[in-house]
Amino acid sequence: MQQFAHEKLVRLEAQLLQRELVITDRIAPGITRRGATQLISFACNDYLSLSRHPDVIQASVEATRRLGVGAGASRLVTGNHSLYQRLEAQLAKLKGTEDAIVFGSGYLTNIGAIPALMGRSDLILMDEACHSCLYSGARLARSRIFTFKHNDVGDAAELLRLHRTEYRYCLLLTEGVFSMDGDRAPIAALLKLANEFDVWLMTDDAHGLGVVGDGRGSNVDAGTALPVPLQMGTLSKAVGAYGGYLCTSRAVADLIRNRARSLIYSTALPPGTVAAASKALEIIATDKDLVRKPIERARLFTDKLGLPTAQSSIVPLLLGSSERALKASEHLQQAGYLVVAIRPPTVPVDTARLRCTFSAAHETADVEAFARAAAEALAAV
Ligand SMILES: *Cc1c(COP(=O)(O)O)cnc(C)c1O
Repeated sequence: MQQFAHEKLVRLEAQLLQRELVITDRIAPGITRRGATQLISFACNDYLSLSRHPDVIQASVEATRRLGVGAGASRLVTGNHSLYQRLEAQLAKLKGTEDAIVFGSGYLTNIGAIPALMGRSDLILMDEACHSCLYSGARLARSRIFTFKHNDVGDAAELLRLHRTEYRYCLLLTEGVFSMDGDRAPIAALLKLANEFDVWLMTDDAHGLGVVGDGRGSNVDAGTALPVPLQMGTLSKAVGAYGGYLCTSRAVADLIRNRARSLIYSTALPPGTVAAASKALEIIATDKDLVRKPIERARLFTDKLGLPTAQSSIVPLLLGSSERALKASEHLQQAGYLVVAIRPPTVPVDTARLRCTFSAAHETADVEAFARAAAEALAAV
């Protein structure tokens, strides 16, 4: 076994694909410490710095004092503390759905909800750029899986014309804001396609909530909330806490409470975490100036670099090879910035990149200086 592991690692290292866990302390909004160096971070998903908001921290501490550090059991046993009810009502209201269910994480939401709805005689269509946990959920469902070209509604339509009638139910999976590309899915067009072919549309809005659509997420298009029937997301990015959710109809939510293994057989979230998420959502729903900031910062950056206008808080700088991406990341680290090189298999081969994320914590001057440093790094590698 040691030899097996060693050989695999040697191969990864040779391809510059070995990863390591680096100790990283987020010591202040937008500021990170690695070893002795303090860096301005453009590599974090805490887009609104709510993980450090005094009211959010206070809510979490109060709930921990009152109800304890851990939930003690699965939600279906005795872990369903009273804070869940408030959080789920807030999510349903924000998304305009009948109901919402909170899971242990975004990952657990996808690997629980998808197999609870889909089975062997069903079809799952997914955007090829979907996150790993959507693929995992689809595989656990044991359905037939097809991927369509990234954001290509025509390709998805073609697959449906060819295959829809061979299967009982069909689910179409996409991300509202793509985690590694920062672009948005054409949700209105996908919803139309879904209705035409009797398909259920599910969006993963991990990077949309709190950032796009006035903070309400990627289902909101020019002020109008599109009726996406299955909207999942996470409480661990802009919300700043931890956990995942699915907003949907009451009947589907009740089915999932009965059938999603990752909900039923995993311990409920700590009360402090649920209280923090609840307070953070309250801020997202009311502080419209705050939720506008990450995108404004990202747009300032794309303007400065002459890139297509940012559609979210995520801007990729494509470098191609892993080597170039790693070098550019090192170059920026020397200049005082933390930006992580994203390599295959997280992204397709030859599309290694720097994934830059912008947050409300960044000042305009920080972004401008970072844009200059990024241009230099790109030119240097
Ligand atoms: C981060 C992420 C998840 C997983 O959410 P966690 O709460 O971190 O488990 C799911 N989907 C996408 C697109 C993500 O970026």
